[in-house]
Amino acid sequence: MSVKPEAAGNGRGRTPYLSHFTEFSERRARFVESFRDTKIDAFLVTALPNVRYLSGFSGSNAALLLTADRSLLFTDPRYQTQAPQECDCDIKIAKKALLIEAPIWVNRLAVKRLGFERTRISFEAYDFLKRNAKTFQLVPVGDAIEQLRMVKSATEIATIRKAVELNSAAFDHALRTFKRGMTEVDLAGKIEYRMRRLGADGPSFETIVAAGPRTALPHAHPTARAIKGDELLLVDMGATVAGYASDMTRTMGVGRLSTKARRMYRAVLESQLVAIDSIKAGIASSTVDRSARTVLKKYGLDEWFIHSTGHGLGLEIHEGPRIGKKEARRLEAGMAITVEPGVYLEDFGGVRIEDTVIVTKNGCEVLTPTSKDLIIL
Ligand code: ZN
Ligand code: ZN
Repeated sequence: MSVKPEAAGNGRGRTPYLSHFTEFSERRARFVESFRDTKIDAFLVTALPNVRYLSGFSGSNAALLLTADRSLLFTDPRYQTQAPQECDCDIKIAKKALLIEAPIWVNRLAVKRLGFERTRISFEAYDFLKRNAKTFQLVPVGDAIEQLRMVKSATEIATIRKAVELNSAAFDHALRTFKRGMTEVDLAGKIEYRMRRLGADGPSFETIVAAGPRTALPHAHPTARAIKGDELLLVDMGATVAGYASDMTRTMGVGRLSTKARRMYRAVLESQLVAIDSIKAGIASSTVDRSARTVLKKYGLDEWFIHSTGHGLGLEIHEGPRIGKKEARRLEAGMAITVEPGVYLEDFGGVRIEDTVIVTKNGCEVLTPTSKDLIIL
């Protein structure tokens, strides 16, 4: 790498970055190693979560050019102070668009074959690169960085744990202020305010608060509808901490719940617990999905479980692996995934229960501390 970690860690107050720098340069080395056999001699990373994963840079405009011995981070003048604080790459402050500056360096470094992220680039960006690729060949590459990102390091797991704990604390704080008659938007607002107050970067996705029959919409957008008595209330929320996401869903009762709603809750909870129980390194993701569905089938509710059982999460709220019916991908120790079966009956209501867990060699660790006993408000 062009800048040594110790050089960057010299200044007082900059030492905390040192261990991070090492982790990022190791990730880059692992990534560069992974394309050694492909005859690709440089790689242009344009997806921001991937740039962040490999460099530590958290800004909103960047591209990373990696060769066997160089790491160039392109960003714009807004980040000229932040970029060297966050990463130990060779920082190039671009005066023009990044995709104008990056190819100049590709030529300068005598690159012959440049890998790029084929699923992460716009047609316009590709077209632009192609027009500038006079002396090098463009090689589309699939989800190589995403594959590396699936298994989390100890530092990443510690950060996800913080995000999960903060999220649950925000949930507790917000619920304490709950009053009947409050709207879905009021409660969503209180939740996101609490996240901020507790130190989150922000919500990791738009908080879902749905009451009554609206709980049957798996991704309901909070509305001005008042949360009244004797109905279901579903909250799906996640906080981002130091770039890492958490994700949790709890379904509650406001006042009295019908026997049907309580039975749905029991079924979904049993399904979620059985699915969690099935998790361990080495099994296919589809096994976890099947475990969840088998329980719901016993209750005659499997037909209304209309999404997959879970997803990986990390620098993005949805990343690999997918925990679905047809996913043959084997789970590995260190993967961070959600387990979130749900049942949705149109015009009646829905129940979903979701935790964030870490796959281990012999099972998994449920990070989410929030109770799954049915909460009645
Ligand atoms: Zn969720
Ligand atoms: Zn989720």
